[in-house]
Amino acid sequence: MLPLDTKARWSANWQEPILLKVAGLQEFVAGVFPMDRMLLDLRVPEVAAAGALADLPWAGFLVNPGDIPFNDRPEVAVLGDAATVQPGDVVEIRPGSSKIAVRYRRGDNGNVLFATERCNSFCLMCSQPPREVEDGWRVEQLCDLAGLIDKDEPSLAISGGEPTLLGAGLERVIRRCAQALPNTHLHVLSNGRRFEDRLYANMFSDAHPSLTWGVPLYGDHHRLHDYIVQSPGAFAQTIRGLYALHAAGQRIEVRVVLTRLVAERLPELARYIYRNLPFVEHVALMGTEPIGFAKAHHEDLWIDPVDLGATLLDTTRFLSRRGMAVSLYNLPLCTLPAELRPFARRSISNWKQHYLPACDGCTLKNQCGGFFGWITPEWTSRAIVPITAKDELSCARH
Ligand code: SF4
Repeated sequence: MLPLDTKARWSANWQEPILLKVAGLQEFVAGVFPMDRMLLDLRVPEVAAAGALADLPWAGFLVNPGDIPFNDRPEVAVLGDAATVQPGDVVEIRPGSSKIAVRYRRGDNGNVLFATERCNSFCLMCSQPPREVEDGWRVEQLCDLAGLIDKDEPSLAISGGEPTLLGAGLERVIRRCAQALPNTHLHVLSNGRRFEDRLYANMFSDAHPSLTWGVPLYGDHHRLHDYIVQSPGAFAQTIRGLYALHAAGQRIEVRVVLTRLVAERLPELARYIYRNLPFVEHVALMGTEPIGFAKAHHEDLWIDPVDLGATLLDTTRFLSRRGMAVSLYNLPLCTLPAELRPFARRSISNWKQHYLPACDGCTLKNQCGGFFGWITPEWTSRAIVPITAKDELSCARH
């Protein structure tokens, strides 16, 4: 679990926040990114050995803390875990800060373009509590970041906060990704409310060749959904938004966080989705991330996933037998009935993922998504037990 920022010091007098790509030999040879937007990683022995490389017009150099200054050009020394920043990554350096932040990590399964801290919902289990700040500046920053991301990156999420609060800025970010990263799948997490305005939904109709909207739905009726998102009228807006997105030719995933109240009506919700939203191409049923607002609402939200078994079976069977793709996210394999294990995905981003001591010796550890790094005993299922080869054999026989 590598963090997304680390202590660092730098010699340059950068006046504004700056995004820089870390370059090794591969980035030099590929010649895809401008040299003046890259930090040459002199911590890599082969790079340091190629002395003439340092004469090229790099933005600066990435060095070890104790290294003697290479020349009088800008140097950045990582003071924390050196592995936090690697060639291919994109880092943000902010004047006045003592840290650098990793805004893109090569090879990570959970890279996110963070759109805004603002949100128009206040979900009981929000993992990223919103803040009412003016952060429209992120549009330019994300457009800049898109230009420094690996061209063969398979997928990126755009999340917040509520990304649609950027208004036309979100369209601009997505179109910039289409230009810089046409082969990268974009997955935008949005509550969908803003799309009740069909004109806004239509703005995205040809914005990117591979774009999916992940929209949460927490109930088959307005009272439940509006309560979970703490926003009267949200259910109606989201349903209208889903229809408008569909009319605009967009691909849609419905996301359901399995809090206790939602789980009580999960079969009804599945039937609602099947009957009313048949155009949805994927339904994600997700365990709760125990951070942010969720921590304050444990009593309202928590249900041990092992107690969900029958409901999850019924719901998953109902949808999949009718041709709707279903996945289970954030649910440890040992808490699921064996029939559901093929639906489970390793959904937790690498930098957040964690295993418990009980997982040692589990034969399915490589397939299991494990836990969020901030798991506590009160959010841990009582059913966490290593799965043995014997268990698997007996499941296969039944
Ligand atoms: S014991 Fe750990 S690794 Fe094995 S299935 Fe359970 S949570 Fe996953």
